[in-house]
Amino acid sequence: MARSAVVIDPEYLKHDPGEFHPERPERLKVLLDLAAELGSKSFQLLPPRAALREEIESCHTADYIELVRATSKTNRYALDGDTVTCRDSFGVGLLAVGGFLRLLDAIAAGEARNGFALVRPPGHHALRDRAMGFCLFNTVAIGAHHVRRHYGAERVLIMDWDVHHGNGTQDAFYQDRSVLYLSTHQYPYYPGSGAAEEVGEGGGAGYTVNVPLPAGCGDEEYLRVFSEIVVPTAEKFAPDWILVSAGFDPHRRDPLGGMNVTESGFGAMAAMLIALAEKHAGGKIAFLLEGGYDLAALKNSVVSVLERMKGESMADGLGSHGGEAIEPLIRRVLRIQEQYW
Ligand SMILES: [Zn+2]
Repeated sequence: MARSAVVIDPEYLKHDPGEFHPERPERLKVLLDLAAELGSKSFQLLPPRAALREEIESCHTADYIELVRATSKTNRYALDGDTVTCRDSFGVGLLAVGGFLRLLDAIAAGEARNGFALVRPPGHHALRDRAMGFCLFNTVAIGAHHVRRHYGAERVLIMDWDVHHGNGTQDAFYQDRSVLYLSTHQYPYYPGSGAAEEVGEGGGAGYTVNVPLPAGCGDEEYLRVFSEIVVPTAEKFAPDWILVSAGFDPHRRDPLGGMNVTESGFGAMAAMLIALAEKHAGGKIAFLLEGGYDLAALKNSVVSVLERMKGESMADGLGSHGGEAIEPLIRRVLRIQEQYW
């Protein structure tokens, strides 16, 4: 069987949003040696490529792409209050998207059984015509367009477990039933969207599932949500591809998020998604790094997911013990969604 793939490259360190910015190059620096540490028997390292303009255009306007390109002429440019670029940012942005697409190509070709794109900057807040929340281009959304266009995918599941709601990804497919967007996030919190009542529109109604969690949720609550909402909904959708916006800012040590997830919790969530991919999608699952701002927590959590990727991917027994406090929220989300599923 093909090995799992990891995309990572020192080029990703060159996007520098400025001193004291949480989305800093060190986030990737601590991950650079992981593939080697974990051993080439299990993992292959894939070099990224730059995304083509037409690939970025599947999700962003030409004017917006031009605006980001123009930032490479100045040392510092603030696209929004917290999305700041340097001269290399546009190039690194293209490489972040292209790195993920390279991974998807390898999985589609059977060269990789699954994989993790460890890239930056993150992408899930980026809107069609606007940068937002550290994000330049919406990598996971461009990835979903890519597997539809090139590999005939008809049902793409995007699971987003970043602590922030992926408003840009939700927007990209709000009226589109070929992409199921499932998000667990702290709520109310940045960016403000992601209420349970946001379910999609028109033909896409029911194909956005938001689970707005109160601050303080840990492994038990997340695994309960996965067991009772994520897995059952995904089973009915029967995805032919699974893309994961894997942000590690729900980790208990994260300075931005207010959640209590541990690295084992992320591993268990990953295992459940890998099992879903093996059942429905021929194993085709690609993880994409979004947030995660405590360096040790980030590294340990990525290792935990990578270990699940190479393993037998059995969902373990962490199951739905505890976390009863969010049972009313789970019932409410299921009630809102029941007319669609
Ligand atoms: Zn985040």
